[in-house]
Amino acid sequence: MASYTAVNEPMLDFAPGSQERKDLAEALKKYEGVTDVPIVIGDEEIRTQEVRKQVAPFDHQRTVATYYYATSDIIKKAIDVGLKARADWEKRPLQERCDVFLRAADLMSKQYRMDLIATTMLGQAKNVWQAEIDATAELIDFLRFDVQFAQRTTEYQPLSTSPEVTKNSMSYRGLEGFWAAVCPFNFTAIGGHLPMAPAMMGNVALWKPSDTAVLSNYIAFKIYREAGLPPGVINFLPADGPVFGDTVLSSPDFVGLNFTGSVGTFKKLWKQIAENLDIYKNYPRIIGECGGKNMHFIHPSADWESVANATVRSAFEFNGQKCSACSRMYIPQSLWPKVKAKMLEIMQQVKMGSPLEQDSFVTAVIDDKAFSRIKGYLDYAKSSPNLTVLCGGNCDDSKGYFVEPTIVETTDPQDRIMQEEIFGPVLTVYAYPDNQVKETVELARTTSPFGLTGAIYVEDAAAKAELSEAFRFAAGNFYINDKSTGSVVGQQPFGGARLSGTNDKAGGPHYMARFTSPQAIKETF
Ligand code: GLU
Repeated sequence: MASYTAVNEPMLDFAPGSQERKDLAEALKKYEGVTDVPIVIGDEEIRTQEVRKQVAPFDHQRTVATYYYATSDIIKKAIDVGLKARADWEKRPLQERCDVFLRAADLMSKQYRMDLIATTMLGQAKNVWQAEIDATAELIDFLRFDVQFAQRTTEYQPLSTSPEVTKNSMSYRGLEGFWAAVCPFNFTAIGGHLPMAPAMMGNVALWKPSDTAVLSNYIAFKIYREAGLPPGVINFLPADGPVFGDTVLSSPDFVGLNFTGSVGTFKKLWKQIAENLDIYKNYPRIIGECGGKNMHFIHPSADWESVANATVRSAFEFNGQKCSACSRMYIPQSLWPKVKAKMLEIMQQVKMGSPLEQDSFVTAVIDDKAFSRIKGYLDYAKSSPNLTVLCGGNCDDSKGYFVEPTIVETTDPQDRIMQEEIFGPVLTVYAYPDNQVKETVELARTTSPFGLTGAIYVEDAAAKAELSEAFRFAAGNFYINDKSTGSVVGQQPFGGARLSGTNDKAGGPHYMARFTSPQAIKETF
């Protein structure tokens, strides 16, 4: 097949008065009312008695969508329909499958860009630039780079040492069964990616969107269908988590889980898969990404000027609800007073508000569960003798789930606030004695059980090499003199090890191989 080289989607800047501002205003208007989101299996739209609402996180009065929970029977039907669709889909040439998703990328880039942005702003409380980074640029990049990597994944053909006698070849097809894509709220791009990548390789998938991202995920689903994805290849199934998990994982035809979410849910599903192993026709593939407790480690030789701004961005952009967000910082005592002053100055300019207001840097966290979890950490920080709240510390859920971006200083580098994932706008700082770099590196390396992202700020070359080696397995995405967030598809393939996940690196060249079941063929003449 013709070889395809992806490039990153250019981003819009949404300057005041620009055409894209006008287009966005129109799209926001379009979604002013409540959108009805059905379950979709094949060509059939289904609405059940179990009606749910997706409410804007920043305004309890604003319902953005109604949707319906699929029952166990409906999920079973989706499996059957998917397996029927698979018969034709998996035999189609890779080029044909890729063309569907390249068309989807073009539709997202032009026709439906504002729909994806508006529904991500309203449903997941992202400001316009965050929605653009996520729901369009990153999702479009996933589609195009996956095509490039799908082609590379399937191009290897083995040697035939005596071609006149023997021909060796490899055939790449999807797995014999169906995949379950269990998606998070925090990135529309990840929701769109988890079912799409297996489908591109010739699999069929059930797409379970997060309850709090149903609308934007549905828009992406509809774009895939409009781009030519045959009915049933991906079925769209909002559902109660345990009902979905129990039903899907008890099917003998289950072949793979593509998951992004919490450690607790991932482990639960993995254990369930292990318990059901005897009923499966294949050993299921398990791919998961589960968050982090990401650090910024500042070395005494660091160029400290850039640290304050980078750390504020990493910790508080997207309301700290990026898996990659910085939530603990280690900084030498000699640098801390200057960096602290700069950070607190920046924090005074950080505005919290509705994502629809242009200057809101921080908006609302996703739902009541997140709000109470984060509030628990704020209460703990305010009452613990080891911790001092330097700014923020308050929250208010009277109108929406608003949590002030909060910086906490700790005297105990092993405090639980340095170990546990908060997944909200809370950053904890430990100022270490300048003569204890080695000890503090050891702490930073081992305090948290996660291994997703991490950043070091360092100018001294020998120290850079030492720190890089020390953190080799503590951060799947490692940044030197840059913040711990903002990975770009095709540039920094994303994923971590330890409790952060299976480190299969979404947006990288090896990911697509997980979705093929190759056959090695030797033909003798
Ligand atoms: N890729 C994103 C970043 O590097 C984070 C994705 C996530 O939150 O899962 O910032």
